[in-house]
Amino acid sequence: MMDMTEQSPVTEQTAAPVNATAQPVLPDAQTVTAVTHWTDRLFSFRVTRPASLRFRSGEFVMIGLMGDVNPKTGKQKPLLRAYSIASPSWDEELEFYSIKVQDGPLTSKLQHIQPGDQIILRPKPVGTLVHDALLPGKRLWFFATGTGFAPFASLLRDPQTYEDYDQVIITHTCRDVAELEYGKQLIETIRTDEMMQELLGEDGLAKLVYYPTTTREESPKMGRITTLLQDGTVFKDLGIDGISAETDRAMVCGSMGLNTDIKEILEGFGLEEGANSEPKHYVVEKAFVG
Ligand SMILES: Cc1cc2nc3c(=O)[nH]c(=O)nc-3n(C[C@H](O)[C@H](O)[C@H](O)COP(=O)(O)OP(=O)(O)OC[C@H]3O[C@@H](n4cnc5c(N)ncnc54)[C@H](O)[C@@H]3O)c2cc1C
Repeated sequence: MMDMTEQSPVTEQTAAPVNATAQPVLPDAQTVTAVTHWTDRLFSFRVTRPASLRFRSGEFVMIGLMGDVNPKTGKQKPLLRAYSIASPSWDEELEFYSIKVQDGPLTSKLQHIQPGDQIILRPKPVGTLVHDALLPGKRLWFFATGTGFAPFASLLRDPQTYEDYDQVIITHTCRDVAELEYGKQLIETIRTDEMMQELLGEDGLAKLVYYPTTTREESPKMGRITTLLQDGTVFKDLGIDGISAETDRAMVCGSMGLNTDIKEILEGFGLEEGANSEPKHYVVEKAFVG
C-alpha cells in the first residue's frame, strides 16, 4: 500500500507573504506522481490522495495552484477550478484528465506540472454523475465529448458499473483521432490488465462497449454522437433496438451544447432527468463552463 498524505487545513493566511524567501507551502497540498501529455491540448496526471478523502466514482473536486501575488496585499490566493476525478473510488491515488487552455488562468500553468510538484486539492467531492442518481436499469450509456470522458474513466473502473447493468456503452466524440487516445488506452487497460480483469470480472468486461467517433479528422466512425443517435446509426452499429425508459440509463458529460442536444434526444425516448435527491433515468454534468 502506498502512503496516503493527510491534507492540511485551507486558510488564506497560510499563503506565503510576498517577501518570503522559502517556497510557499500550498494549503491542501497533494504531490504530483505522474504526468502524461496526450496532445498539445490534453494531458492527464496523478496525485497523492488524502487519507481522509472519500468520494463516489464520477464526482468532481476543486483543484488548482496558488495564484499570482496580489501587489496590494502581498498575499496569494488559491486559483481553483472544478475537475472530475478520473480515477475510481478504490484507487490509492487520484487521476485527472485536463485540457490545456493556452490563456486559461489555471491550465496555462497547470500544464507545466511535473512529478514532485504540488497542487491544491479541496477535499469536498460533489456531482450528479453517480450511480445513486439513477434508477435501476439494464443498459447504461456514458455520452462524453472531449475531457467529458474524465468522470467515465472513473466509473468505467468501478465494479458497481458492471454489477448493476447488463451492458455498459461508452461513446466518446472528439474532433481529432489523437484526442481519443487517453480514452482508447484506458479501455485497452481495462480489458487487458490482470488487476482490472480480476476486479471487474470476465463477465463484467464482456458488458463493455466502446464507441469512439471523430467530427473532423477521418476515423472508422465519423460524426457527432447526436446525429448518429438521431439517424439510428449507433443502434444499427451496436445491434440494439433503441433507447427506452424501461431499460436504458444514461450519464452525459460534454459542452453545454452537447448536453442540451443529448438531453432533448433522451427526453424524446421518454427518459427523465434524475438527481442525487431524486434518481431517474439520466443525469448530466457540464464538462466545462463557456
Ligand atoms: C463540473 C465540472 C467539471 C470539470 N471537469 C474538468 C475535467 O475533468 N478536466 C478539465 O480539463 N476541465 C474540467 N472542467 C473545466 C475546468 O473547471 C476549467 O475550466 C479548466 O481547467 C480550464 O481552466 P482555466 O482557468 O485554464 O480556464 P477557464 O477560464 O476556466 O476556461 C477558459 C475557457 O476555456 C474553455 N474550456 C475550459 N475547460 C475546457 C475543457 N475541459 N474542454 C474544452 N474547453 C474548455 C472554455 O471555453 C472556457 O471558457 C470542469 C468544469 C466543471 C464545471
